Amino acid sequence: MEREAMDYDVVIVGAGPAGLSAAIRLKQLNPDLAVMVLEKGSEVGAHILSGALFESRPLDELLPDWQDRGAPLKTPVSEDQVYLYRSETSAVKLPNFAVPAPMHNNGNWIISLGSLCRWLAGQAE
Ligand SMILES: Cc1cc2nc3c(=O)[nH]c(=O)nc-3n(C[C@H](O)[C@H](O)[C@H](O)COP(=O)(O)OP(=O)(O)OC[C@H]3O[C@@H](n4cnc5c(N)ncnc54)[C@H](O)[C@@H]3O)c2cc1C
Repeated sequence: MEREAMDYDVVIVGAGPAGLSAAIRLKQLNPDLAVMVLEKGSEVGAHILSGALFESRPLDELLPDWQDRGAPLKTPVSEDQVYLYRSETSAVKLPNFAVPAPMHNNGNWIISLGSLCRWLAGQAE
């Protein structure tokens, strides 16, 4: 049986944040590259379930004008509150200095990762 075939320089499997960022970066480095992103979901973002606390530094490096491009980062984190649960009804709020640095989210964003992926897909196109 004859099958239709298309040639690409790079095929990326999975239109998650990693695949889409890689596609955008490759085209920034070499606009002549033919890049294909394959996604098994019905649309980009369909299989991305996570709400996320998002550190925007990688996006600053990839697309420095992401705000002008309408990236769906709308809700900045204003404060961290980390609680240690002692029982079903009692919890102790940890002082900020006792919270490990990776759990500090001030300056980060509360986002829908699915929405970010849909937006990244538009940028990749
Ligand atoms: C519950 C939860 C909460 C999280 N919270 C945070 C958070 O607060 N902050 C944070 O930074 N990170 C968080 N993460 C982690 C974050 O979601 C991942 O680090 C990120 O999604 C990884 O991106 P990725 O592109 O590598 O993979 P994925 O996001 O998993 O994307 C992979 C894509 O590839 C597609 N795919 C897979 N296999 C195939 C195939 N064979 N063919 C075609 N397509 C395929 C999938 O459908 C999907 O769209 C969380 C994750 C989970 C599960």
